[in-house]
Amino acid sequence: MPTKRQETTAHVHSPAIEDYLEQIHNLIEGKGYARVVDIAKNLGISQASVTNMIQRLDAEGYVIYERYRGVVMTEAGRKIGQEIARRHEVLTRLLASFGLDPQTVHEDVEGMEHHISRQTLEVLTLLMEELEGNPELLMKLKRQLG
Ligand code: CA
Repeated sequence: MPTKRQETTAHVHSPAIEDYLEQIHNLIEGKGYARVVDIAKNLGISQASVTNMIQRLDAEGYVIYERYRGVVMTEAGRKIGQEIARRHEVLTRLLASFGLDPQTVHEDVEGMEHHISRQTLEVLTLLMEELEGNPELLMKLKRQLG
């Protein structure tokens, strides 16, 4: 059953906006640039829809879009993209370390990354680091999962 979220963790960006900024951030980190065609491919969305959304993100000050040069992030956009990418990584590493199947990990992380508070992410980051440095503890816990 979903629990009611604390006011302090309410977020102002829709999951869709966060996924776009995450994706653009990842592309720029990986390739040095983000093009509409790559964003569309990675998100599984049509190029026309991506272009619409990018124009909206531009109007809202998250990116700067130049039709023939691709998408550049503003500081505001980069902050959000970076944060979502970090949540994605921590959650994925934590769950994957238990050997859950990648599809389940992916689906759960895609949901959780938009809803997790800063405090909870800190807890899970500590847990992830502890488990990665302590294979025996991880093995013990995995055995309990059966
Ligand atoms: Ca995502």
